[in-house]
Amino acid sequence: MYRKAILVEPKKPLEFVEEPIPETPDDGVVLELLYSGVCHSDVHIQADCMDFGGGVYASLFAINKDLFIGRNLGHEIYGRIMSMGPNASKNFKVGDEVVAYPWAGCRSCEFCKIDRSNFCSDNQFGLKDLGLGRKGGFATHMALPECEKYLIKRGNIDPKVAPLLSCSALTAFSGLRQIKESLDTRARAGLTQNILLIGAGGLGQWAVAYSKHLYPECNLTVADISTEKLEQLSERGVDNTVLFSKTSTIAEKAQQFPHKMDGIIDFVGSSQTASLAAKLLSRGGTMVVIGLIGGQIEASLLGLIDGTQTIKGVRTGSFELMKEMIRLTEEKNIRGPEIFTYKFDQVNEALDAIRNGTMMGRAVLDIKA
Ligand SMILES: [Zn+2]
Ligand SMILES: [Zn+2]
Repeated sequence: MYRKAILVEPKKPLEFVEEPIPETPDDGVVLELLYSGVCHSDVHIQADCMDFGGGVYASLFAINKDLFIGRNLGHEIYGRIMSMGPNASKNFKVGDEVVAYPWAGCRSCEFCKIDRSNFCSDNQFGLKDLGLGRKGGFATHMALPECEKYLIKRGNIDPKVAPLLSCSALTAFSGLRQIKESLDTRARAGLTQNILLIGAGGLGQWAVAYSKHLYPECNLTVADISTEKLEQLSERGVDNTVLFSKTSTIAEKAQQFPHKMDGIIDFVGSSQTASLAAKLLSRGGTMVVIGLIGGQIEASLLGLIDGTQTIKGVRTGSFELMKEMIRLTEEKNIRGPEIFTYKFDQVNEALDAIRNGTMMGRAVLDIKA
């Protein structure tokens, strides 16, 4: 038997259930899970109230509660291969420690076929992804097919950091890639490359680490509402920090910046932070929205045209991008966010800490503890 934590009702704690260990797929593996990351998306899914802006909200529980009940969350998955099917890839063996790529998509749409399953066209509510609709990492075991499409070996990366590679690291890295053209143009013109990261939590900490490798000449600013989170970043090579007041307006926040920004990544993703980012964009600048608070953006259309600016949304990254990012992380020995370890039984405490904003880095479940 194996244990997993499942959703039973929106906003209610996860419950533990037991069921038989899955059969080993013919072309895949069964993993004995070691560590699983707990992500802000898990909190959003548990809350089950997605704000699409303009007063439009969606709840999976309301649409089809059978799809909600029993969801086994946890998409930052890391484990050891326990058994392999007869037709599994020979590039892996029993005992290998691997990270799973969770953004599997439907495997058959036009995007999935070209390694863009992270924006699969048949994946409402993420139901085709691991730990969203399919079984996830808040479990002691999991079965996966197609090793070459789901698994990447950990290499020399710290085992507690390894699960984070598939979501928080990949999403931050993917977001930073999207501002490349804007920053390269500035560099060619001999101008300063100003990056602003909104949100100093786990993703912000990954983005700080990767920024310094992808854009070594950049001037890096991080903004957050938490003094503690900003202080934590001071030793990580951040050039400037901006402390937001929870109650200040967008215009007041905008005045806290001495200049415009060329690449902005919004790890909060609320109406206020995204609208602020649009206001702060420089000529030719790009802003990327990643956080999932939801709502809508206010931006001047003529300002966008006149400034030749770009507003993008990024949902994680492709499998190939994740491989490239892992190589860089290993090669440069890139330091991830601060890690706070919880026992598997404490999964609800970890979710609470993220929801309350008291998580100072990234929560990781020690599945064996
Ligand atoms: Zn995530
Ligand atoms: Zn698809």
